[in-house]
Amino acid sequence: MENVAVELKKLIREVPDFPKPGINFYDITTLLKDASGLKKTIEALTEKVKGEKIDTVIGIESRGFIFASPIAYMLGAGFVPVRKPKKLPAEKVSVSYELEYGQDSLEMHKDAVGQGHRVLIVDDLIATGGTAKAVVDLVEGLGGQVVGLAFVIELTFLNGRSKLNGYNVHSLITYDS
Ligand code: AMP
Repeated sequence: MENVAVELKKLIREVPDFPKPGINFYDITTLLKDASGLKKTIEALTEKVKGEKIDTVIGIESRGFIFASPIAYMLGAGFVPVRKPKKLPAEKVSVSYELEYGQDSLEMHKDAVGQGHRVLIVDDLIATGGTAKAVVDLVEGLGGQVVGLAFVIELTFLNGRSKLNGYNVHSLITYDS
């Protein structure tokens, strides 16, 4: 990890057994409330993708929104939300994906991404990569080109990158166990 990431990692709060026993939750609210931490996180993620000529930055509900919107602003790109079911008002596309137990779905407006649009997908954290891969499928289904995926935190021991072979996956802070 880069020096700035080592500094930012100290601002992440780890909460054991949340939301259920056995899950170690990485709480970003302690990072967000730190003025310098918030600024450095947005700047460091933007720096990783700024050469990519991005049209649209997608944020995954809900913590992805917090980071995707300022990154879009910094890049001079648009922002598009990918939301949980039944939240978006206009015509939409949806995708289902597997969770540890059961299934979940995400939706995006059909006119949010067009043919050949260069898209960056942003979320707070990549664990198994299932959520991010589902969003890749949504974007590509609309003809968009995923030029990168950016995460504040990567749980490398869950190997989420293996679901995203061939894509540019960026992360700032890593946990190896
Ligand atoms: P996954 O699909 O397994 O990569 O899970 C990624 C999504 O679940 C992201 O939207 C994360 O915010 C959330 N998530 C998964 N595991 C954790 C964790 N240990 N701490 C905080 N958020 C998590």
